Amino acid sequence: MDRQKKPTKPKRPKITLEPWQNSKIEPYIVLKNLSKNYDGVPAVQDCTLDIYEGEFYSLLGASGCGKSTLLRLLAGFEKPSSGKLFIGGQDMTHVPSYNRPVNMMFQSYALFPHMSVEQNIAFGLKQEGLPREEIKNRVYEVLDLVQMSRFSKRHPNRLSGGQQQRVALARSLVKRPKLILLDEPMAALDQKLREETQFELVNIQEKVGITFIMVTHDQEEAMTMSSRLAIMEEGWIQQIGTPHEIYEFPNSAYVADFIGSINLFEGVITGVTKEMVNIKCPMLSHTLSVPTNTTVPIGGSVTVAVRPEKLEIGIDKPTYKHNWEEGIIEDIGYYGDMSIYHVKLPSGQTVMASLLNLDRISIQQLTWNQSVYVSWQPENSIILTT
Ligand code: ADP
Ligand code: MG
Repeated sequence: MDRQKKPTKPKRPKITLEPWQNSKIEPYIVLKNLSKNYDGVPAVQDCTLDIYEGEFYSLLGASGCGKSTLLRLLAGFEKPSSGKLFIGGQDMTHVPSYNRPVNMMFQSYALFPHMSVEQNIAFGLKQEGLPREEIKNRVYEVLDLVQMSRFSKRHPNRLSGGQQQRVALARSLVKRPKLILLDEPMAALDQKLREETQFELVNIQEKVGITFIMVTHDQEEAMTMSSRLAIMEEGWIQQIGTPHEIYEFPNSAYVADFIGSINLFEGVITGVTKEMVNIKCPMLSHTLSVPTNTTVPIGGSVTVAVRPEKLEIGIDKPTYKHNWEEGIIEDIGYYGDMSIYHVKLPSGQTVMASLLNLDRISIQQLTWNQSVYVSWQPENSIILTT
């Protein structure tokens, strides 16, 4: 073998699963400082975001935070008070809804009660004046996709909520839009059906490759279904990121608290080095030590956040100087695969620690009213500025 020759690395095509990481790919939808007021009252405030082709993007936030308004602005059902909106590189800010490559699936499904499933789905294509044969083919293609072919002759009032939802989705898909907007598409379904439908919807979206933007107030739904999500509060976008980024690196106490459960400790910075920040919290006996991710100076107020699954809980006294407390188990929530322990600290604050129920014996050792220690590694906590 010729050892002089350096092995050449095989050249692989770069596959971009996360187009927002690739500066060469143009976003499909661009919102620039988009705002909407109703009689001077802001509903959407200064929203700037990019959405890429093929994304399953969610707008997540509490009721009344402006999600549906933002969706209606995208659909063209509302005119923005200020700002701009681009779709496919074209300025669509003032383009009416019927000239946008967009289809909206309404929360109420808005099916025509006097028409069969087939007629409901065919309606939009008939209006476009497509040939009969093509309409039929396309209708049955989407009915197949949403597994509703055998209900084609039924009327909506003889369908379950889940079936109506599929028909509404089929009606959106059949028009082959570039973008489908879904406003709380699972809101009318019960919990079990919701979970199944979430998976199905993602599967269908991946199959057809159409960009989906979904509004939801259900954080679990947004986290499990989305490529990325925008978290809204009172009309503002608080954070944009992948589910992982939002969960692990929330940028505010609001987002941290909204997504999953989290322990929050308010305190004041007492020391800063290049690597670590020390924080004194009035509700804790020991100081906290957190990797430096803040520019807040000594004396500044911050909130430290630690997820319950990052908290260690046990009966042995930790040997570290920082990041531990002694407390009493006040409550245990049993969730089958895991348990959540509520530990009351001497200050009165309760912290949550979750443990997987892998080892039945050791879990059984922790019981109500028991004295325990909770602790965590510095890198498992983050500083949020208040
Ligand atoms: P979400 O979908 O997040 O629950 P919306 O976008 O529906 O919130 O509403 C955001 C805010 O705008 C709310 O305070 C709501 O009352 C107000 N709003 C929405 N639509 C209208 C309207 N057509 N006229 C006046 N106020 C509206
Ligand atoms: Mg809404």
